[in-house]
Amino acid sequence: MVAICAISMPASADWVGDARPMMGTEVSVRLWHDDPVAGAGLVESVFEEVERINQLMSTYIETSPISDINRRAAKEPVVAGAELFQLIRRSLDISVLTLGAFDITYDSVGQHYDFRAGQRPDSDTVEAERTLIDYRFVQLDQATGTVSYMEDGVRINLGGIAKGYVVERGVNFLRKAGVQHAIVTAGGDSRLLGDRRGYPWMVGIRDPREDGQVAISVPLEDEAISTSGDYERYFEEDGVRYHHIIAPSTGAPASGVYSATVFGPDAVITDALSTSVFVMGVDQGLRLIATLPDYESIVIDDQGRIYYSDGLQQPEPAPFEPAPLVE
Ligand code: ADP
Ligand code: MG
Repeated sequence: MVAICAISMPASADWVGDARPMMGTEVSVRLWHDDPVAGAGLVESVFEEVERINQLMSTYIETSPISDINRRAAKEPVVAGAELFQLIRRSLDISVLTLGAFDITYDSVGQHYDFRAGQRPDSDTVEAERTLIDYRFVQLDQATGTVSYMEDGVRINLGGIAKGYVVERGVNFLRKAGVQHAIVTAGGDSRLLGDRRGYPWMVGIRDPREDGQVAISVPLEDEAISTSGDYERYFEEDGVRYHHIIAPSTGAPASGVYSATVFGPDAVITDALSTSVFVMGVDQGLRLIATLPDYESIVIDDQGRIYYSDGLQQPEPAPFEPAPLVE
């Protein structure tokens, strides 16, 4: 008779994670945990949090509070709820900081694009709708927690800041749950918690014209990094690339830059600033970043040239390696 002895082995600490299509992109969570089962539960909780925020802030969901605001705020003040109110307020603050390059009212024009279907607004529509792009049309009343629009037809869309918000929220949740090493990514926005157990996280900035290739790797710990690129959502027509980042001053997709990356302590800020630097272009964008001591930027222009903000050390050219001695 063979005695079968079930030894309950303590599960060993490990990385756990998952990736899912959400918010029109891929959201991924990876964390280190002593107990992989408990870790997997935390991963699941982050996805639940992402979905909760998506339900609050997606303009593609008819019943979302933001859709309700877009329907009614030109007629009457609409109660936003504290969380949405606060993110709208932060968006408007960033509009002031970026002299209107970041503007959530871009959506009066933006709503007419369907990148999957290759649809764009005609020039009459752009001319008419771009007059409604102005963050000053959005009025917030702190006392009542309401949003109102000063013109009919104004629309807001948090697509340039909401992913930063979800990764920031995800990491805050994990930190409170005792996690010390994690990365939460939503499309081009990543928030890192701690390091990668003795190593920095290496976050790749995509080569904007070579699918799947990394142009630059940035070592980071406990920080956020966001990239805005003209390759994320676009279609081409007669050799012109129509992409998803709109210059509020013209109502057309911003030109001159392939991608803008910003990193620093807060993913809400890095997300909004990467969109802003993309719109502002190399000179103006890097000048803005130079005024923000905690934030740095890497911009790739439409010639493929790479620019670094002042506070960044440019990578050294690869050291000269003497040829191995032949015996
Ligand atoms: P993603 O992470 O989606 O690639 P970005 O952070 O670069 O994107 O933001 C692009 C999104 O921001 C667009 O899809 C749109 O929803 C929104 N957006 C476009 N132009 C502007 C703008 N000028 N200001 C604020 N948001 C914008
Ligand atoms: Mg952004």
